[in-house]
Amino acid sequence: MSTAEPASWFVYVLINSTGVSYTGIAKDVAARLKKHNAGNGARFTRGRGPWTILHMEGPMTHGDALRREIVIKKDAHFKAHLKERMPAPAPLSPFLSDAATLPSVPGAYVLLVELHRETPVQLPGRPSIALPAGRYLYCGSARGPGGIKARVGRHMRPDKTVRWHIDQLTTAGQVLGAWIFPNGDECALAARLDAFPAPIAGFGSSDCPTCRSHLLAWPQNAPQFPPWSAPVDSSPQTGIAARSVSPDSSGTRRLTTTADPGPSKAMRDKT
Ligand SMILES: [Zn+2]
Repeated sequence: MSTAEPASWFVYVLINSTGVSYTGIAKDVAARLKKHNAGNGARFTRGRGPWTILHMEGPMTHGDALRREIVIKKDAHFKAHLKERMPAPAPLSPFLSDAATLPSVPGAYVLLVELHRETPVQLPGRPSIALPAGRYLYCGSARGPGGIKARVGRHMRPDKTVRWHIDQLTTAGQVLGAWIFPNGDECALAARLDAFPAPIAGFGSSDCPTCRSHLLAWPQNAPQFPPWSAPVDSSPQTGIAARSVSPDSSGTRRLTTTADPGPSKAMRDKT
């Protein structure tokens, strides 16, 4: 191996929704992933997608990448270990959608909310911001009576008075589920999601010294689940959604428009 050889290659392991993995090398893994998902990345991956990135190593030289690729392809134990660390193969499975199944204990949660259309959101004393349609992750905590069950259950009810910042999203869009962390801390969860864009500074976090926002956008091209290999402070409760959320329960509801005076002064940011 020449020392002059540039270290610009990555070894990657992809996985599909049935748990099948594929190992390859590329200089631009994101571009190669697109090719795999378009059906022209490799014969093996064609027609078996969509694929997501399970693991990446590098950068390294082309020679080292080829050698590492061969090692990983033969190492079933290593690949099994990677799959174990993965929260779940399906995009929504860590998110519980049935409030009745949640525990009445204090803790934190990541709420997954889908906006079906552009939605105006306003924090008190600030100009309205139009959130584009898409999926959002909100980090909150539940320390009151009824704990996580009561708090997340309220988030999932479309009919409610807008009281918290997040209520503007949950009344306009649809809560797809909650990933819960008994005894967890919402700021630690927000910190773990630091790679995701924060469309509204201070959302849910105006008294947090370190958090940019407790609301993060979950872009289409981002990993299909938050990139956590280990939970924060406590173990995540994972499981397949017990029931699907009715699409007509809240998806077409509209938030009060920006012509209104805006959220009441009583609206608070922390939940
Ligand atoms: Zn915070």
